[in-house]
Amino acid sequence: MSLTKLARLTLLTSALISSGAIAQESVLNLYSARHYQTDEALYANFTKQTGIKINRIEAKEDELLERIKNEGAQSPADIFLTVDAARLAKADELGIFAPLQSKVIEARIPAHLRSADWAAFSTRARVIIYNKANIKPEDVQNYEDLANPKLKNQVCSRSGSHPYNLSLLASLIAHMGEQKAEEWARGVVANFARSPKGGDTDQIKAVAAGECGVAISNSYYFARLMRSTKPEDKKIIDNLGVIWPNQKTQGVHMNVSGGGILKTAPNKESAVKFMEYLAADEAQRYFADGNNEWPAVPGVKTDNPALAALGNFKADTLPIPTLAKNAVLAQKIYDRAGWK
Ligand code: FE
Repeated sequence: MSLTKLARLTLLTSALISSGAIAQESVLNLYSARHYQTDEALYANFTKQTGIKINRIEAKEDELLERIKNEGAQSPADIFLTVDAARLAKADELGIFAPLQSKVIEARIPAHLRSADWAAFSTRARVIIYNKANIKPEDVQNYEDLANPKLKNQVCSRSGSHPYNLSLLASLIAHMGEQKAEEWARGVVANFARSPKGGDTDQIKAVAAGECGVAISNSYYFARLMRSTKPEDKKIIDNLGVIWPNQKTQGVHMNVSGGGILKTAPNKESAVKFMEYLAADEAQRYFADGNNEWPAVPGVKTDNPALAALGNFKADTLPIPTLAKNAVLAQKIYDRAGWK
């Protein structure tokens, strides 16, 4: 962590502690590893509805967890929010969460999208993006196809160590077993057009530029480009096709964003209110309409032209805690397969 960042965090935390100490005013101290500008409206709306002021610290996942650990029982943090199943599990393993006891959450969030200690509030699909000029869609219908020697020098990927790819492989381990999953990873590595680098949007751009024919990306990065008004983004999208993988088998791999209430939360009541707010229709719509994710709550009506254009699909309903459990093995397999 840089010194300026550390200073900023320290200042913020002192502000949090003193604001809590002034009076019994209702506050909520949120430690968030979500970094989406569109979330501002989500938080502002909570304050408008409840009068509870949100003090927010946004930083990288590891910095926030380190901070929570160091602050110990004195931590001002009420809620920890993050993205990715493996990261939620990591936080859970550190023992920072209190059991999530809310009838509202239990009724609203499907069982496969929560554990005893945390709940997912939005989902994102890991889709296959291909270049329409040089890849036939029938050749990339499944994750398995990416390991087919037919696609030699055609696959672009981000790092295997990134949680999005760890969770994807964690799901494949659950569906095909460790050995087949490793064969798959080796097959994909053998098809790489270049060494893994960049984020999901970089892979999408590389496919559009013809640097490779196919890549995997979280759906919201693609939806973001679809909704962009920039001509250069329109051009990228025009060259590309999207596949919902594994529609005849387990369905497309889904990851989540979610959070939990800290054991040491000084504002437990506000924290429960906030978690329940995130599961309500209005907040659920923010995830979809603002950040192009899907609501975790079934049946919530959204108004997002990109998501509507992407259409319906079969989602893998593997319990998210299973993904989290397999994440360590997934990293080992990527290491053995040379997926850097
Ligand atoms: Fe992301």
